[in-house]
Amino acid sequence: MEKKNRIETICVQGGYRPGNGEPRQVPIIQSTTFKYATSEDMGKLFDLEASGYFYTRLQNPTNDIVAAKIAEMEGGTAAMLTSSGQAANFFSIFNIANCGDHVVASSTIYGGTFNLFSVTMKKMGIDFTFVEPDCSEDELNAAFRPNTKACFGETIANPALTVLDIEKFARAAHGHGVPLIIDNTFATPVNCRPFEWGADIVTHSTTKYMDGHGSAVGGAIVDSGRFDWMKYADKFPGLCTPDESYHGITYAEKFGLAGAFITKATAQLMRDFGSIQAPQNAYLLNNGLESLHVRMARHCENGLAVAEFLENNDKIAWVTYPGLKSDKYYALAQKYMPGGTCGVVSFGVKGGRKAAEKFMANLRIAAIETHVADARTCCLHPASSTHRQMSDEELLAAGVSADLVRLSCGLESKEDLIEDIAQALEKI
Ligand SMILES: *Cc1c(COP(=O)(O)O)cnc(C)c1O
Repeated sequence: MEKKNRIETICVQGGYRPGNGEPRQVPIIQSTTFKYATSEDMGKLFDLEASGYFYTRLQNPTNDIVAAKIAEMEGGTAAMLTSSGQAANFFSIFNIANCGDHVVASSTIYGGTFNLFSVTMKKMGIDFTFVEPDCSEDELNAAFRPNTKACFGETIANPALTVLDIEKFARAAHGHGVPLIIDNTFATPVNCRPFEWGADIVTHSTTKYMDGHGSAVGGAIVDSGRFDWMKYADKFPGLCTPDESYHGITYAEKFGLAGAFITKATAQLMRDFGSIQAPQNAYLLNNGLESLHVRMARHCENGLAVAEFLENNDKIAWVTYPGLKSDKYYALAQKYMPGGTCGVVSFGVKGGRKAAEKFMANLRIAAIETHVADARTCCLHPASSTHRQMSDEELLAAGVSADLVRLSCGLESKEDLIEDIAQALEKI
């Protein structure tokens, strides 16, 4: 067996081993289509009898190189890139849940995901029950129904910064015969690999730290290859019974534990929705991945320094950062992310909404953006922007108070960041 590399080496070299005379950089295959000698050759691809490419709406070689790297980083067996994180989370659930099915999700998830689940997927007939991430195991178990098909949460929630007890959620999901899907966007596989704690599927908004430079919107889905679909065949007919739109292939039989989930998501969902990442964007993403391990360490160092500064400043009402010793999630963060969490710090400025707005307007280095997890420090007031669709009650359940400022610490000097924050606070 080939020696398994460490995460740092996988970030740089995973997914792509060029042969003699082949390009050292990942080639961008800028082609919608691929040529074959005979119709029969191509037919084998359509029947999933041979692997290969025919149309970039479903698959592209550049994407597959980068997806293979992400699969290796997470310790999974298969992965795919999607056009956005939203598409990744949608596919991860729609691949196994149909109209009439139900999903259990943590309530403190990203606002866009909450909207996708509670509004758009609800229109498709999929019902979600949202549970507090800190609920007891009894409360969590009580949320499952006979028609529940998955359980979903974020390693570190955006922007609430709650840390999910992945083992607790995995126990509940597996106790009910369904997979645990974890959105690992904020932690990245550098800081946490949810498969090591029992998760079955991992998703990413690669738009964030993985890209890291605000260059390209994208997403990824990774399969651990460990969930035994056939064991719960009656729950997952899409994987465990013949797909008539693919000549009667039964994905779980033909592609086994390692490949069934991603093959089905590619063959059905990517075919029908076409939410694929552009190969140009996959190339940019790969450049980001090559330095992810170096950047995450600095993001975490800056995040902690800023959080400690804010904690000791009398103009600040409260600070949430899972790397702070005083934080409610410090113990969970130490367990799941001993090497560091992320660069995002949430806090409230005394004086509420007005003071927060004044503070943000006076920042010189940190720019006001909806973006997060970027090389350049940025900040956001979710209640008036990304989360404005949510009612006060939903906001509270999502762990977002009206005075919450989300500061995403970039890769600049931490001294400069702190001086910038200090001068902006003085102007309140
Ligand atoms: C941004 C984000 C998403 C959505 O990703 P897009 O790439 O913006 O579509 C999903 N989950 C988390 C945790 C995010 O931060």
